[in-house]
Amino acid sequence: MGRFFRAVKAGFEAMGEVPKGDRFEVAEKAVSCPHCAHDHFVEGRAQLNTAGLTFMNLDWANRSAATLTCTSCGRIEWFLSDPKEA
Ligand SMILES: [Zn+2]
Repeated sequence: MGRFFRAVKAGFEAMGEVPKGDRFEVAEKAVSCPHCAHDHFVEGRAQLNTAGLTFMNLDWANRSAATLTCTSCGRIEWFLSDPKEA
């Protein structure tokens, strides 16, 4: 487990809550982690309107993306469409 994810987990533990995560669907397909095949994630939001992304021609995107963080290995998946809780 990476140092960053340990720190995130430690943060949740400090709050007395280790997230189990939820199952999500994107485009009618269940999301599973491409790294460890786990299927529970914690949803988050990230802003996309940075100079770097404008340069990469992502101006058409919504300016915010959904992130799903795998609660097993900590891998973060990005989606421009909203994941549905399954
Ligand atoms: Zn994973």
